Amino acid sequence: MFFQDPSLCRPGRYGVLLLFSMLSIKGILEMGKEYAFPRPKTCLRDGCGSCRVWGHGFVEAWFEGYGKPVWLKRYICADCGCVYTIRPFGYWPRHRVPARIIFRSLCHRIEHGKWEKGGFTKQRQINWLKALRKNIKIHLGMSFAGDVIEGFFELLHGGRIPVLRPG
Ligand SMILES: [Zn+2]
Repeated sequence: MFFQDPSLCRPGRYGVLLLFSMLSIKGILEMGKEYAFPRPKTCLRDGCGSCRVWGHGFVEAWFEGYGKPVWLKRYICADCGCVYTIRPFGYWPRHRVPARIIFRSLCHRIEHGKWEKGGFTKQRQINWLKALRKNIKIHLGMSFAGDVIEGFFELLHGGRIPVLRPG
């Protein structure tokens, strides 16, 4: 039910984990905080596994195509202090556009040598490609011989978000 991205785990006193789940953004907009967010039955942190996972408020998030922000539920483990944010599957953190749309835009650029028209500004698409190139350099190294799309998959395979701006 949950997909957890290990690269997003923030170490520290209060670890924060993002859990991706099949949420309906439309449903959350309609129901607000009453939406039936799934709850992790036990803490998913290595070595914890506590059953005391409690509600921990909400955070605001924006998604492309919706005129207002939605509330995403958070949980906290009473024993280790780990905080969980439940996010919709198919969206990367700090990105309002679904992952598949970002991928489609990049493929279009590589295939046709120009940016996809309509939908998003050119600048936004350029930023995705810039971040992807940077991530390939940082995480796959100068010796990586594939093209950017191969790099995209290689980064995903390593549990990374290919277009997350590094730093
Ligand atoms: Zn815990």
